Amino acid sequence: MSEKQGKRTEIGEIGEFGLIDQLSSKFTVKNESTLKGIGDDAAVLGSGDQLQLLSTDMLLEGVHFDLSYMPLQHLGYKAVSVNVSDIAAMNGLPKQITVSIALSNRFSVEAVEELYKGIQFACEDYSVDLVGGDTTSSPSGLVISVSVVGEVKKDSIVYRKNAEENDIICVTGDLGGAFLGLQVLEREKAVFKANPEMQPELEKYDYIVKRQLKPSARMDVIHELSDLGLVPTSMIDVSDGLASELFHIAKSSEVGVTIYEDKLPIAKMAFETAVEFNIDPMTCALNGGEDYELLFTIGQNEFEKIKNHPDIATIGYVDKKEKGLKMVTKNNNTVALQAQGWKHF
Ligand code: ADP
Ligand code: MG
Repeated sequence: MSEKQGKRTEIGEIGEFGLIDQLSSKFTVKNESTLKGIGDDAAVLGSGDQLQLLSTDMLLEGVHFDLSYMPLQHLGYKAVSVNVSDIAAMNGLPKQITVSIALSNRFSVEAVEELYKGIQFACEDYSVDLVGGDTTSSPSGLVISVSVVGEVKKDSIVYRKNAEENDIICVTGDLGGAFLGLQVLEREKAVFKANPEMQPELEKYDYIVKRQLKPSARMDVIHELSDLGLVPTSMIDVSDGLASELFHIAKSSEVGVTIYEDKLPIAKMAFETAVEFNIDPMTCALNGGEDYELLFTIGQNEFEKIKNHPDIATIGYVDKKEKGLKMVTKNNNTVALQAQGWKHF
């Protein structure tokens, strides 16, 4: 019902994904070249054997970053990484980006140059070209929106759908670090506010702070999978938290999943910081966002190819849809997975 007719629905009632579903359901695809529209990590466009990927992500000051502890260079790097990560999640290679910024007069030319230094480093690391964008003023904060174009061969493309019963669930790197890095930064900010003489104590937390401030997209893994001749059956990047991403794979693939708590990869520093903050490390691994690792499923016959890989953990298996989403705890109890993810509303 429209607002004119008097009903007002709060966005929080349907949530971010509910809103996207509701808005996008009214659109139909008109072009043959739109192979996949809304609903995966990137749109898939084109025809023939070589396809294009397109994705976009926006970062807002006060929502996604706090400039009191986020260096502008890192912010530029991160804005590119989070976009490249969505291309990686389709098993593609990033090629071009556009960058749009909205700035207030709080920012100097030198400050914007710092931001673009980070963007440039990322362009080097991921071999992408900056090909355009838009610059506009903003009443107060900084907004940075990046779009990325990528390429993928038709036979190598990996969607969130197509995970099959008995597939093995894999995740790269370690989880929960970025969330715990944020907790450390927030704590040090509060300490500094209370007593500006205090120097932030960050060295001890260098790894997780970097996970938060300067995440990398796992293009290295995409290249390795290609070298191994391994095409996952489904894939997504971990931006909102492992549990939330498992729900996306399960929904798109119409399957259930079972994961094992003792198989979740958590870095020692992340684990110890969680304990220090009195948070369950497993909750951080399951629901802490922004790790930008890759979650994917492979056929059992492919297990040999990754079983000795130091940076890929096998955390569970794909089940029938009716089995739902479950986690076997360290005490051998089976619990239903809850997708908390990041709540923006
Ligand atoms: P990701 O976390 O991988 O960036 P999102 O959760 O942001 O993906 O988005 C999920 C899907 O919804 C994507 O296909 C994205 O392009 C689409 N989407 C998000 N916001 C909008 C919007 N406002 N209008 C149309 N499509 C959207
Ligand atoms: Mg994604």
